[in-house]
Amino acid sequence: MRDNTPLIQLKGVGTKTKGYFDKLEIHTVGDLLTTYPRDYDSFEPPVKIGNLSGGEVACVYAAVTGTVSEKKVRNLSVLTLTVSDGTGLLTLTFFNMPFLKKVLKKGGYYCFRGKVSAHGTKASMEQPAYYSYQDYMELTKSLLPVYSLTKGLTNKTFRKLVEQAMMTCVWEEEFYPPAILDTYHLLPEKEAIRRIHFPEDRECLAEARRRLVFDEFFGFFYFLRQNKKLCEGLKNEYCMFETADTVRFLEQLPFPLTKAQKKVWQDIRNDLGSPYCMNRLVQGDVGSGKTIVAVLALMMTAANGYQGALMAPTEVLAVQHFETIRGYVEKYHVPFRPVLLVGSMTAAMKRQAYEQIASGEANLIIGTHALIQERVVYRSLALVVTDEQHRFGVKQREQLSEKGVSPHILVMSATPIPRTLAIILYGDLQVSVIDELPADRLPIKNCVVGTNYRATAYKFLAGQVAQGRQVYVICPQVEEGELDNLENVVDYTEKLRAALPETVAVSYLHGKMRPADKNRIMEQFADGSIDVLVSTTVIEVGINVPNATVMMVENADRFGLAQLHQLRGRVGRGEHQSYCIFVSSQDRKETMERLEILNRSNDGFFIAAEDLRLRGPGDLFGIRQSGEFAFRMGDIYGDSDVLKEACEAVDRLLVSDPDLETEEMQPLKEHLRYIRANNVDFRSI
Ligand code: ADP
Ligand code: MG
Repeated sequence: MRDNTPLIQLKGVGTKTKGYFDKLEIHTVGDLLTTYPRDYDSFEPPVKIGNLSGGEVACVYAAVTGTVSEKKVRNLSVLTLTVSDGTGLLTLTFFNMPFLKKVLKKGGYYCFRGKVSAHGTKASMEQPAYYSYQDYMELTKSLLPVYSLTKGLTNKTFRKLVEQAMMTCVWEEEFYPPAILDTYHLLPEKEAIRRIHFPEDRECLAEARRRLVFDEFFGFFYFLRQNKKLCEGLKNEYCMFETADTVRFLEQLPFPLTKAQKKVWQDIRNDLGSPYCMNRLVQGDVGSGKTIVAVLALMMTAANGYQGALMAPTEVLAVQHFETIRGYVEKYHVPFRPVLLVGSMTAAMKRQAYEQIASGEANLIIGTHALIQERVVYRSLALVVTDEQHRFGVKQREQLSEKGVSPHILVMSATPIPRTLAIILYGDLQVSVIDELPADRLPIKNCVVGTNYRATAYKFLAGQVAQGRQVYVICPQVEEGELDNLENVVDYTEKLRAALPETVAVSYLHGKMRPADKNRIMEQFADGSIDVLVSTTVIEVGINVPNATVMMVENADRFGLAQLHQLRGRVGRGEHQSYCIFVSSQDRKETMERLEILNRSNDGFFIAAEDLRLRGPGDLFGIRQSGEFAFRMGDIYGDSDVLKEACEAVDRLLVSDPDLETEEMQPLKEHLRYIRANNVDFRSI
């Protein structure tokens, strides 16, 4: 669906509504239709008042028992009435709906649906929706889409516009040839998009979702294969050998490499000296020590007279890597010159960095994606290392080859992917695994608690700080958003400052801060002048402050297990005993069961597998996995069957019509060109 009619052309969309959609990055009819619901509301059949329990959303079918009473509170009209279904009484309150006095008559039966509050035996609902019995029973058959919204935009407006867009949009031809649709039992795109927004039932929804997930995976594999073709047989133009400098550096390190690190280092050395260009992924759980392996490869590159670049996904992480490498160079007197290149540097600093890179004076270059932008001219770039979830795909390789270089590529990833899946997902790369942690590590101690445990947790944090340790506290977001009761970073910091002794230095960090401010805060945390850092998940990847021993995650129930595991990986990186406190704001059985997995194990692979087992194939919209795969719908674990089918479909296609030349492939070719042009890059590495 590529209709690029501006949204403002839909009936009912004025500049105000357009503004809301702009915030959601929805600008065209095509964008709107391909923004899928984040969940579905289903209407359960009515239940008896006697069985209601507080906190749940429920519907009752009941009669109005008396006359409706109206009170005025300041300018507000408050209607109160009682309804009964023979099993109990329920009190209903409506605000500013005085007309209901005339609608809800004494003795009349209606369905009322809303959130139940229960105090002792008294149940009540505020502002419930009301329906006739027939209307409600009609609704119980359907699923209503729930969209991700922004302040000011209602779900109803969103839904109505999607309905309108479905009617008015221009559909292009189905892009798969009939053979693919038949073989893989796929719905046509148009039907899938209609059903994903307005499914008749769960089954219908699952089918629609399957087609859309297939599309994502298909595009992904197509580009993966292209990447493979691009890299295969690339000659090694920078053949390297181990030198005295790298050997000496290794000998001086304060720790011996683990067996797994040695093995991976061996793989990399072999690649760098082989006739072909390296294209390797190093996979290792958080804390397994991937950085040092990357540093070794970079140093070997510099020692052979070339330049090596290290790209990180965030500035904060880039700065940290730069400091680490600069530290090594100074401490061990290695004759190399590191330089940092990130967006927040002043123009003058950047210019200086560009010059040093162009002249070859700098040979270890550390930064963000700025490193492969046009402005940077390398003297002899022979190795690019990308750390953690960094986008590095066909596009980046092309950007580099446009500069006339095809360096060795080394990718570091902490995403625990089972071997069978890794083989297909990383089909374009060689894979090495660091499958052990350094021996001196004490296993992290975990606990899963409710919000009533906070006071105890704060005492514990203060105790750790008193012993000289540092603490992270994670909150889901910066400001009050569409959901209630979520802890936000700024307010939380205030609360925490009040709760902890005055001597404890508490600061915060979030994604919306200016990069320079983020870097400053991280530096202060790294040098120990901040004791407690309250943060959003911006610190999720890579950050290494071994003195931090406590990770407290608020609203842990809101995060995926993989993401929680990454967050936990920020502690347990040094010699001190570390702790992880997962605070759950709700105690539903499934939530506790999920969090319990983290409690039981510190092993990323085990957690990924258990997560999958718990969620099961029926869970279509579970909490998203975090990680380097940026699929909008597809879940590499839960949808692994579709993943395999899409992979097979691409491979068959590449045998029968590799360049998509036949007539019937033209719509598919056009579709792939479109997603490519729009930067849909499914894997971030
Ligand atoms: P990750 O794999 O998560 O990127 P890092 O490379 O940041 O992990 O390493 C985590 C910590 O472990 C760092 O402080 C690093 O110096 C240390 N480390 C790495 N390798 C070893 C080792 N072989 N023995 C002891 N400590 C190590
Ligand atoms: Mg790392």
